[in-house]
Amino acid sequence: MRFVQIVVLAGGTGGARFLRGVRAAAPEAEITAVVNTGDDVTMHGLRICPDLDTVMYTLGGGIDEERGWGRAGESWTVKEELAAYDADPTWFGLGDRDLATHLVRTRMLDAGYALSAVTAALCARWQPGVTLLPMSDQRVETHVVVTDPESGRPQAIHFQEWWVRHRAALDPAAFVQVGVDAARPAPGVVEAFAAADAILLAPSNPVVSIGTVLGVPGLREALLASPARVAGVSPIVGGAVVRGMADRCLPAMGIEVSAEGVGRHYGARSEGGLLDAWLVAEDDAADVPGVDVRARPLLMSSPEATTDLARAALGACAR
Ligand code: GDP
Ligand code: CA
Repeated sequence: MRFVQIVVLAGGTGGARFLRGVRAAAPEAEITAVVNTGDDVTMHGLRICPDLDTVMYTLGGGIDEERGWGRAGESWTVKEELAAYDADPTWFGLGDRDLATHLVRTRMLDAGYALSAVTAALCARWQPGVTLLPMSDQRVETHVVVTDPESGRPQAIHFQEWWVRHRAALDPAAFVQVGVDAARPAPGVVEAFAAADAILLAPSNPVVSIGTVLGVPGLREALLASPARVAGVSPIVGGAVVRGMADRCLPAMGIEVSAEGVGRHYGARSEGGLLDAWLVAEDDAADVPGVDVRARPLLMSSPEATTDLARAALGACAR
């Protein structure tokens, strides 16, 4: 089956790599990426959208492949100068090249443009080959409830502070989407689901990437109303995360760190869940009632392997 309109729900690194595979597997299709913005943060007066930028740089050929985030050939002069002023936060990596993106974005947002319009403007340079949409134009920020090591009291800190500053070392009691009640899907998101003939959940973090996207009021409903089949790819391979902190997030939600645990968390579409199909690694047995579970190689270790994975996911959307 040849797909014409594909929608992919994505976070940062896992989502970006997967999208590269989808673009290679379906070069003629119109691909829309609906990307998590819960990681977004304001630092040094600049609005930073880590997952949108990771997808944009990865698909646009500007990513630092080794790090998986930020620009290739980056330098850190501004960061060093800020540190010399003791200007907080000193723990967040803002590269010189990357800063230009945040300067342009912040200027446009301050002038009144919506994040979706700003993203489109940034993509005019990067030409990612997909339509890149933020999940919402309204600000939604993921906060993590932790126990403050000094006072012993519960405290909510921004996701970036939990992840980048504390390296996810503080036990998360809960993840909160600050601002989500006032959020709506960004322009184009609902339309993309309605027109889709395949919907894919990238192997992104099920809690703070895919979960955050699905938390935008109306978005999950729009997805479920689509005539397209929905296939998800497990971010858990061989019972462990490939990269990142999903193994710190899933237990806080009472979800087992396994392909089966995440598959059951997403649930069968026939039972009010999300999935028609669920791709798991060949070593991960998974019983997800009501879902077409398919075992495939899931490691995006090369462009070819990633394209094969995307092809398998699209294949699972065929009727
Ligand atoms: P983030 O926003 O940068 O944290 O990235 P995402 O949420 O998009 O993706 C993070 C998830 O991608 C992690 O849970 C990883 O386990 C998963 N991941 C990374 N590389 C691979 C891979 O090669 N295959 C699969 N199946 N999952 C992967
Ligand atoms: Ca992220």
